[in-house]
This record gives sequence, C-alpha cells and structure tokens, in this order.
Amino acid sequence: MAFQKDLFAQQHVLVTGATQGIGAGVANYLASLGARVTAVGLDRGDGSLSAGVRVVLADVSDPESTQRVFDDIDSLDALVNCAGIIRRGAEHQVEVFEKVVSVNLTGTMRMCTASRALLKVSRGAIVNMASMLSFFGGAMVPGYAASKGGVAQLTKSLALAYAGDKIRVNAVAPGWIATPLTQALQDDPARSKPILSRTPLGRWGTPEDVAGCVAFLCSPAAAFMTGVILPVDGGYLVA
Ligand code: NAD
Repeated sequence: MAFQKDLFAQQHVLVTGATQGIGAGVANYLASLGARVTAVGLDRGDGSLSAGVRVVLADVSDPESTQRVFDDIDSLDALVNCAGIIRRGAEHQVEVFEKVVSVNLTGTMRMCTASRALLKVSRGAIVNMASMLSFFGGAMVPGYAASKGGVAQLTKSLALAYAGDKIRVNAVAPGWIATPLTQALQDDPARSKPILSRTPLGRWGTPEDVAGCVAFLCSPAAAFMTGVILPVDGGYLVA
C-alpha cells in the first residue's frame, strides 16, 4: 500500500467504466483507501470489482441514463472517467467512429458537466482516461485516437474552466495495460512483442499501476496540479 489507508475516508468517489479492467482497479484501490465508491458500467463486467463497491448500470453515451446515475448522489469528492471502448478495424465506418467518440469523449464531457456542481461543493477532483493515442495516430482506430486526443484537450480546457470552482481536472495516459480491452493484443505474439520491446520497463501494465497514479491525482499531494496529462506507460512514450 503506497498511501495511508484512510486517505479517502469520508469521501465519495464516482468511477465510470468500473466494472472491469482499469476502472475496476481504480475503484478497488480507492475503496481500499477508505473511499465510498460508486462504480458505473455498461454491464456487470468480469467480476474483478470488490464486493463493497456499489455498482450502477448506466451508459455514459446516453444523456438520460447518465442523469439517473446522479439521482441518488448528494455529495461527490472525485470523479474518475474510465468508461471507454475501442473498435479496432471498424472505426473507418463513420457510425462506428461516432459511437466511439460519443462514449470516450462526449461521455467524459457529460459526466464532468453533471458532476461539476457537486465537486464545487467539495473542491474535488476529476481524473480522465487519456491514452498513448492522445499523442500518436492509430491507423486502425481513428475514432479511438480522435476521442483520446479530444480527452486530453478537454482535460486542459475543463482545468481552466473549473479552476474558479477549485475543481482540479487532470488525466492519466496509460500505456499498454493488461485488461479485457487489450486481450486480443496480449494473445497475439505478433502484436504483443513489438509493444513489449518498446516498453522500457519490459512488461504490460496492470490496472493497479494506473490506480496508484489516479489516487495521487485525487489526493491533496496533487493540490497544485491541474490540466496535466500524466503518462503511466513504463516509458513507452519516451522510447
Ligand atoms: P475494459 O474494456 O476492460 O473496461 C471498460 C469498462 O467501461 C467496462 O466496465 C465497461 O462496462 C465500461 N463501459 C464501456 N462502455 C460504456 C458506456 N457506454 N457507459 C458506461 N460504461 C461503459 O477497458 P479498459 O482497458 O479497462 O479501459 C478503461 C479506460 O482506459 C478506457 O477509457 C480506455 O480507453 C483507457 N485505456 C486503456 C488502455 C489499455 O491498455 N487497456 C490504455 C490506455 C487507455
């Protein structure tokens, strides 16, 4: 445990995309540091979420569904936007492109907007999920890359817009993390070998690797940080 175990005691944290993968890792970790966590997912996921975490099924690309998440929330200290999809090979179809952007980018904006008033009260924090594809292009995933470039710019813009409310807005940019989203890449040696050989730390990241950095950005240790896109990539970006 890298942090004091009551770091988020008395705090309510909302994590989207939290029924599996990185989001579940974040939700479990923040809960282990004392937070009351509400986890939003499209479905129940793969069972990696801790038993104590409250799950709300909702679709961040749907305005009414998102609004229902807030029906029984009356306080919020942090929002972590992990909901995201990728449709490798299909994103040159405009309707698929649009769907990916509507979940990854517009969904993030929708959650930030819906949380702003509550976070203003707590002087809280937002952490968004950027990606290596916030920096690089992706020939097979133009929608994903456009959405993640957008998440980085959205993060900087909301950092400015919300600063007057004392809400900090940052993002983490994970490298290659072993989750269901990247299972096909992990399983294909022709794709996983170049990823690992370019990653100086020489392994796939874990949801816990990302969760520690999210916890830091939500914590008072990052009180003077806003508008940052923090790579969590084993050195991939600088290699
Ligand atoms: P994952 O597929 O394992 O999990 C995605 C989660 O998002 C699930 O809980 C799912 O229910 C939820 N979700 C999907 N669409 C949703 C919607 N419309 N509304 C609400 N919830 C929805 O993915 P992951 O690998 O854990 O990725 C999580 C985030 O991290 C995504 O934003 C992804 O782009 C980003 N990311 C992942 C990697 C990686 O290597 N895995 C790298 C960089 C960034």
